[in-house]
Amino acid sequence: MRYSFRSDRRGFTLIELLIVLAVISIVAVIGIPSFIGYLHHTTDMTCRNTAEQLLTEAERSIAVRQFVDASDVAEHFIALLDRSSTTEVSVGYSEEISHASYQTINGERYIASWSISDTYMTVSLTCAEHDTECKRKIRVFYIDTTV
Ligand SMILES: [Zn+2]
Repeated sequence: MRYSFRSDRRGFTLIELLIVLAVISIVAVIGIPSFIGYLHHTTDMTCRNTAEQLLTEAERSIAVRQFVDASDVAEHFIALLDRSSTTEVSVGYSEEISHASYQTINGERYIASWSISDTYMTVSLTCAEHDTECKRKIRVFYIDTTV
């Protein structure tokens, strides 16, 4: 009989529920955008790392060779893309900039665009999904035919 006044008080009152809901929504409002930002940042870093890796590989393999002409350099680069791609590399040419689309093992599609001069190949790799771009200027050596 002493506690009978408590017997019909079960669960939570409406005020308590509202307070809990308010706390949850405050946490969500503060937490979710920063969590999305964090996720975006890490995928961004993954793209950059993948692109930088390929550019380093291209730089290394181009540095140790001598090429006949610019199209020889391009062929060599496309072959490199082809080795790192899970699908067929599609290549397009415009007047000065050539471009190719390829897909990495993790399923991301990248666009490579490049231009080749007498001394340099300028390459840029862009992740099609996250729009992150990595650029590099690679020294190119040609077979000296004047000697
Ligand atoms: Zn990406």
